[in-house]
Amino acid sequence: MEKRGLLIVLSGPSGVGKGTVRQAIFEKENLSHELVYSISATTRTCRDGEQDGRDYFFKTRQEFEQMIKHGQMLEYAEYVGNYYGTPIDYVEEMLSKGKDVFLEIEVNGAIQVRSRMPEGIFIFLTPPDLQELERRLIGRGTDDTPVIEKRIQKAKEELALMKHYDYAVVNDDVDTAVDKIMSIIHSEHLKVTRVLDEWNRG
Ligand code: 5GP
Repeated sequence: MEKRGLLIVLSGPSGVGKGTVRQAIFEKENLSHELVYSISATTRTCRDGEQDGRDYFFKTRQEFEQMIKHGQMLEYAEYVGNYYGTPIDYVEEMLSKGKDVFLEIEVNGAIQVRSRMPEGIFIFLTPPDLQELERRLIGRGTDDTPVIEKRIQKAKEELALMKHYDYAVVNDDVDTAVDKIMSIIHSEHLKVTRVLDEWNRG
């Protein structure tokens, strides 16, 4: 039987830099384990520079609700008025082929994944402090003021959820955060319980 890959969930408050850290991870040339990114579905509109099927699968609300109804989502959440979710088939297929699957999702979704796949590795990316987070959300310039305010309020609530995770990584510097995440993944592969599990699978 082929060994199963690891499910790695990167989460944390909006604006903490999850997207940047995730991109930096996938730009690395020599990832020692095969790591694939799970592209999410969303109902939010496509931003400049984004591409359907690369950054997200952009869906209408009706299409998204059909996917939920047909059990096609590993998790989903409504976030600032839009749905975001992880299509389950891709995740299952890659894990069963022995590939590590990387999710970059908001906190409510991560908690759902935790209850469905508790064997996953849950990493919480934290901002150095809340002012820095506000500065980043405003600096990003992709949203207008009411949306930014909603996101900051949400971020405060989200920070309180860190206790549900296995690891906390401060994003004060992208390269350092990437190195920390990669060492978490390497160490998880070396865990005796996982190594024994692989031996037992033959
Ligand atoms: P954005 O609109 O800035 O691309 O994403 C907004 C938030 O949704 C971010 O915190 C991002 O990590 C999260 N997100 C992206 N994809 C998913 C997903 O599939 N499920 C959940 N629950 N959150 C997601």
